Amino acid sequence: MTGAADKARAIIESYDGPALRIMEVCGTHTHEIFRLGIRGLLPPQVRLISGPGCPVCVTPPGFIDEAVMLGLEHDVTVCTFGDLVRVPGTDMSLAGARSKGARVQVVYSPLDAVDYARDHASEQVTFLSVGFETTTPANCLAVERADAAGLGNFSLLTANKTMPQAYQALKGSADAFLYPGHVCAITGTRAEEDLVGQGVSGVVCGFTAPEIMCALAIILRRSQEGRPFFANAYPRVVTREGNKGAQGLVARLMEPCDATWRGLGEIPGSGMRLRDAYAAYDARRKFDLPHVEGRSNPACRCGDVLRGACTPHDCPLFGKVCTPQHPVGACMVSGEGACSAYYQYGGEQL
Ligand code: SF4
Repeated sequence: MTGAADKARAIIESYDGPALRIMEVCGTHTHEIFRLGIRGLLPPQVRLISGPGCPVCVTPPGFIDEAVMLGLEHDVTVCTFGDLVRVPGTDMSLAGARSKGARVQVVYSPLDAVDYARDHASEQVTFLSVGFETTTPANCLAVERADAAGLGNFSLLTANKTMPQAYQALKGSADAFLYPGHVCAITGTRAEEDLVGQGVSGVVCGFTAPEIMCALAIILRRSQEGRPFFANAYPRVVTREGNKGAQGLVARLMEPCDATWRGLGEIPGSGMRLRDAYAAYDARRKFDLPHVEGRSNPACRCGDVLRGACTPHDCPLFGKVCTPQHPVGACMVSGEGACSAYYQYGGEQL
């Protein structure tokens, strides 16, 4: 362990300040903090709560319904990352649609979906474009590649989201945010710095044990100063300006739109959609999809989990009806989901 990590650990273990709620905005942080046993170091008055940073989890059921509609009613081959296949829609998941004859193809990158479209010219192919600022550039790159290759059979079904508006919606849910390092690597940190002026505190956090402990230690120390703060505890990857190339690519192909988040509802300006110049690659416009509201299982508390209003243990289905083998909600399906992390690592006992 590095000297900085030793110092961070000492700060964490000796903390005797007031109660603090720290939100892990990023699902990867939730999993890594469990996996590394860092929860066990925290004093009892410091609570970690999970946030909305799992892209599969915040994608609402209406999006799955749209994908099912593409597969079953429009004879489209739906290309997607594996996590989304088992997320329940209103009536069925994509796995259910596949059992009814839909073509659902699991891919490992959006560029794989472009390759699939090139190799299957007789099929219409739609990639499910889900994610935050980290993954959106690759989705835009896929459209650029398809456009350059003249592929008229490729499109995206977009549910891309941006984090700054979610921080606004979550103001007051926690005393400080652990900001997602991967997102900030693309966006830079200006939005997070600006939140200090609105009374919101947080620290950009990396993903190794020393990085996570340093970020937590900074939060514990700075919280005692009695005023909002910001720090970048992931400087080896995150700069103030972010990745200009990725930002430029996204700005060329996409524009902001309103977006619905599971648990947070509709947040104005928090989504990204393809610009009119790329409408031919927008599955909603290409196939004239109707607006779909979608409904979750009413017993599932994913929405509350995603805004830190409860833990997975507060859901009556957790570990009984809902397990990773038989997930009822998105937070149990996704590898980044809070319910999956609590199930895998034993919840707050660690
Ligand atoms: S345990 Fe299952 S049903 Fe309950 S909130 Fe989590 S995903 Fe939803």
